[in-house]
Order: sequence, then structure tokens, then C-alpha cells
Amino acid sequence: MADTIFHRIMRREIPADIVYEDDDVVAFRDIAPQAPVHVLFVPKRDYATINDVPEDDAAVIGRLATAAARYAKREGFAEDGYRIVMNCNADGGQTVFQIHLHLLAGAPLGRFGTPA
Ligand code: 5GP
Repeated sequence: MADTIFHRIMRREIPADIVYEDDDVVAFRDIAPQAPVHVLFVPKRDYATINDVPEDDAAVIGRLATAAARYAKREGFAEDGYRIVMNCNADGGQTVFQIHLHLLAGAPLGRFGTPA
């Protein structure tokens, strides 16, 4: 699989505001935030898109979601709420081809899914 900017961030080769890490996941602030809180949760295992995740490793996606929830609780906005999003390929708007989950929070979020 191709090396991406996220791999370089996880190897600490380029700077990022890393806000969370556990055995399976690294999370850092998005460089172009779309909400007051915008954090990207990236697995340490490599999959370019959700299409590449095998059934027997579906837990890799679950771990991204539970890490986001753990972070939301830790930061105190879990009860107010948040949104998690994963984009896939061109129509989904994916631009970095290492799977990642967006956590958006910090204000009421509008509807989503509107065509660009
Ligand atoms: P995607 O469009 O693939 O779902 O999300 C990729 C996200 O990565 C975008 O929201 C973009 O702003 C973010 N991003 C791209 N390059 C960098 C970077 O070098 N550092 C950080 N922290 N975020 C990045």
C-alpha cells in the first residue's frame, strides 16, 4: 500500500497535533477543520479504503469509533454530541488513502450529504 501523509504523521516524520493514541489508533487534529473540533482517527493497520477492509478485520473500524467516543468523553463533549464520518473514494470525497474516521464536534452540525 502507498505511503500517505498520515503514515508520515504516525511515524512522527512530519508534525501534527496528536491528541490521542492507543495500541491500535492514532488521532490528530485536521489541518483544515470543518467544525470547532475536527480530529482524524487513523488505524495503525494499513487499508487504503473501507473497500479494502476484510470481513475478518471489521473490528479495525469499530476501534476507530470507540476511540472517538473515548476521546469525546475525555474531552467532555460526548453528551453534547458529535458526528463521525468515513469517506470512501471519489464520490465520498476521500483524499488520503489510508482509512480514517473524522470526528466533528463543538457546535450543532448542519445536515450532511448535500452534493458539492
Ligand atoms: P478525506 O478527504 O480523505 O476523508 O480526509 C482527509 C483529511 O485530511 C482532510 O480533512 C484534510 O484536511 C486532512 N489533511 C490532509 N493533509 C493533512 C496534513 O498534512 N495534516 C493534517 N493534520 N490533516 C491533513
